[in-house]
Amino acid sequence: MRKQIAAANWKMNLTLQQANALMDELLATPHQLKDSQEAVFGVPFPYLINIKNKLAGKKNVFVAAQNCYDKKAGAFTGEVSAEMLKSIDVDYVILGHSERREYFNESHAMLAEKVNLCLTNGLKPIFCCGEPLAIRDAATQNAFVENQLKESLFHLSAQQLTGFVIAYEPIWAIGTGKTASNEQAQQMHAHIRSVMAKQYGTAVAESISILYGGSVKANNAKEIFAQPDVDGGLVGGASLVAADFAVIINSLK
Ligand code: PEP
Repeated sequence: MRKQIAAANWKMNLTLQQANALMDELLATPHQLKDSQEAVFGVPFPYLINIKNKLAGKKNVFVAAQNCYDKKAGAFTGEVSAEMLKSIDVDYVILGHSERREYFNESHAMLAEKVNLCLTNGLKPIFCCGEPLAIRDAATQNAFVENQLKESLFHLSAQQLTGFVIAYEPIWAIGTGKTASNEQAQQMHAHIRSVMAKQYGTAVAESISILYGGSVKANNAKEIFAQPDVDGGLVGGASLVAADFAVIINSLK
């Protein structure tokens, strides 16, 4: 079975004290991970080492950075490289979140470079894609998402994409309380898998974990995750509430 993943995206929230308290509370809240399941915590850069240490020895639990820079090293004040993240034992890196694409003008080419740098450094990307409302209203979301995948991932080899993680996040559902319906999520996830299958073959496509993101909550995670092509979720708001995120972890297939 391909990996089922509950990934938290804390975004630019929480002080160190609040982050510690949230993680302590979550660790004290009953949640269970089977062999094929993972929980991933996308925490702000300054807390990565601290949260990683808190999770030491816990099975199938990992940390993620929320970004990295698209250059190897050098005079880029304020940026963080993939190599730096690897040197502190970060596991995953969230790339191409719609907030980064929109507010920081991240292009397909920049994201392709970030993916390359992560893979070169042994970091696992969680590659985000998803359409804005106008594209959904125009019913052109399939072509839009296919282009995002093509432009930033299709230079990779089949081997590099085996076991890869993609997060489909319709922008109109992020932080809005408006979740894609189970059918909308399944339809797009199946489309993403078919796009990857067309390019790389069925075995590669079947190995890719495709997470759904967009107002996943404790009360809707189970039904969304139950869709055959939904392999868990990338969760913003609800990942900031320990009890809710524990329920979301327990909702994985
Ligand atoms: C996200 O930030 O990736 C996200 C899906 O946020 P939310 O769960 O709050 O919609």
